[in-house]
Amino acid sequence: MGHLVDFRCPYCRYEEKDVAVGHGRAAVPFLKLFSCPSCHSFGSCWIEEGKIPRCSWCYHDAVTLVADDAPGLACPKCGEPAKLNHRPDDTWA
Ligand SMILES: [Zn+2]
Ligand SMILES: [Zn+2]
Repeated sequence: MGHLVDFRCPYCRYEEKDVAVGHGRAAVPFLKLFSCPSCHSFGSCWIEEGKIPRCSWCYHDAVTLVADDAPGLACPKCGEPAKLNHRPDDTWA
């Protein structure tokens, strides 16, 4: 079951809330977290077999995928370490 994640950077205050990750009722496709070096955004994108994952904001195809349970990542806007707040009780499907 997928869950929701909140991203928040304490340095530049960039935030993204209610980002869905994981899979719903079907095993595929599923949502994976990414940071996009092209438009400097964080989000989740659909992973489908045979398809290149694309930024859900700018559709750039060179996104950096982030582990589903990662505790944080470098902020795509300012590069400082930012936290991910996983909300395992907030599921989607
Ligand atoms: Zn930042
Ligand atoms: Zn992008």
